[in-house]
Amino acid sequence: MTMSRRTFLRGLVGGAAALVTTGHALGRSVWPPDGDAFVPAYLQLEEEGRFAERIDEAYALLEDCQLCPRRCGVNRLRGQTGVCRTADEAVVFSAQPHYGEELPLVGHYGSGTIFFSNCNLRCVFCQNWPIAHEGRGQRLEVEDLADLMLRVQQIGCHNVNLVTPTHVMPQILQATRIAAQKGLRIPLCYNTGGYDAFDAVRLLDGIVDIYLPDLKFMDDDQAELYMGAPDYPETAKAAIAEMHRQVGELVTDPHGIALRGLMIRHLVMPNRTSNAHDFVHWVAETLTPSTYVNIMSQYRVEHWAFEHPDIARAITVDEFLEAMTWAEEAGLTNLDERSLMQRDLFRRRGG
Ligand code: SF4
Repeated sequence: MTMSRRTFLRGLVGGAAALVTTGHALGRSVWPPDGDAFVPAYLQLEEEGRFAERIDEAYALLEDCQLCPRRCGVNRLRGQTGVCRTADEAVVFSAQPHYGEELPLVGHYGSGTIFFSNCNLRCVFCQNWPIAHEGRGQRLEVEDLADLMLRVQQIGCHNVNLVTPTHVMPQILQATRIAAQKGLRIPLCYNTGGYDAFDAVRLLDGIVDIYLPDLKFMDDDQAELYMGAPDYPETAKAAIAEMHRQVGELVTDPHGIALRGLMIRHLVMPNRTSNAHDFVHWVAETLTPSTYVNIMSQYRVEHWAFEHPDIARAITVDEFLEAMTWAEEAGLTNLDERSLMQRDLFRRRGG
């Protein structure tokens, strides 16, 4: 049964209202904890009168779509679709506080995740394939998207966490401007798979506060085999270097909650297919050793991964510990707290 846009939004709003009630019942304050001290990047751009032109530049990319490295050349403003199967409107699967993200994003009241449907990557091991590959979700106008951003702020989330945003970046920018004019003040977090065109990332300069990219593969042949994107390593590295130039290293408030900066994820895959060794060295040597890095252990066999022998199993304890040891040897000093706890647990157990 297809859900109407109105019903979809009402469901999200209903859940949010319950959380607002809970927060007030506990006597908690909501974000931002330190009053007006924090000014998000997008608000500054709006006050400088430069946000609207940036949105126009972004939408222009959709006419002959050059938004991401796929460069499909379709006119999305006229309803055509390319690899990401998305036309002129964003499709949203869910919007809710999320507590499974990195601790600086989760804080006390959760990260305000907005999950976009479809994706410009075709990972055979996709962990969210019903959303990313099958496109389950609801088409939303930018005004509705702006309301979702305001709603996650209202319920106390510490940031708007845009999950899989690359293929709907122009719509996100327009929604952000609308939301900013209505009072959005929390940081904007761009939670991307990393397959972002350099020119598109340049348009985000002064809009995004926190970048949260994956760097999935370091080798072209693995990226081609498992994602259909042999240029992924070079493209993602260039995009991430630009993100780092824009926002720098992670900055948190006195409570440890993220305000601005770059946080990179790397999912360790079986049989060294992701090449964690080269990943940690690239971060340490090209960015900085104190860049926030999350080395993740939760790979599971999903979607088409069963048909690829090298990735058709979970990782071993030794494979995760090996990646963490490489990170230490590379000199990385700002590793995700939960990955360190995982490492210490495995070491205590004699992994
Ligand atoms: S955003 Fe979508 S249509 Fe545009 S180039 Fe990328 S995959 Fe193709």
